[in-house]
Amino acid sequence: MNLGFDIDGVISDFVAYFKTVAQKHYNLTLDEADIYCHDLDFVLGISREERNKLVRETLLGNLQLMKGAKETLTKLSLEGHKIVILTARFDDLVTVTEEWLQEKGIPYTQLIQSKQGEKYLADVNLDMVVEDDLEDAIAWSKRVKNVLLYDHPWNQSLNIKGLFKRIYSWNNIRAEIQKLEKESSKTPMDREV
Ligand SMILES: [Mg+2]
Repeated sequence: MNLGFDIDGVISDFVAYFKTVAQKHYNLTLDEADIYCHDLDFVLGISREERNKLVRETLLGNLQLMKGAKETLTKLSLEGHKIVILTARFDDLVTVTEEWLQEKGIPYTQLIQSKQGEKYLADVNLDMVVEDDLEDAIAWSKRVKNVLLYDHPWNQSLNIKGLFKRIYSWNNIRAEIQKLEKESSKTPMDREV
């Protein structure tokens, strides 16, 4: 299957490092729960320009992986799935991103760099996509049947239209992929109606 994954908040633990950057610049001790929305400028009450500076410093820092990301992606890759990494980081950080993915041992087939808010326009066909940004997840739901939202304090929403499925770990992601594979291997006659 063609599987799409966002990086920050899905593969990388962006916020863990961002908290140290915010502490350094503003002497502010943030809990993950304080980050109530994806727009960090709103969370901190700073300008977009200042926000970009902090985000850039975080992306250039020692970002760690989310628990289970490497193990799961390695298994999926060995099983023959196509792994498409989709990010809207700053355009000039593509090499930094490639080096980070390599250093962390993340296997992937393709890396797609998009403008912010435009990931869903990427020229790629996906069976499933995993995101942590609500706006991106909702946008993806127009194109991709299976949208998984990695649960975080900044993406709480009632999801009344069921546009995405909330997941809580990489184990959950793996289970959803296995479920989908099982489903797609059934003949139309086997399918539950
Ligand atoms: Mg993200």
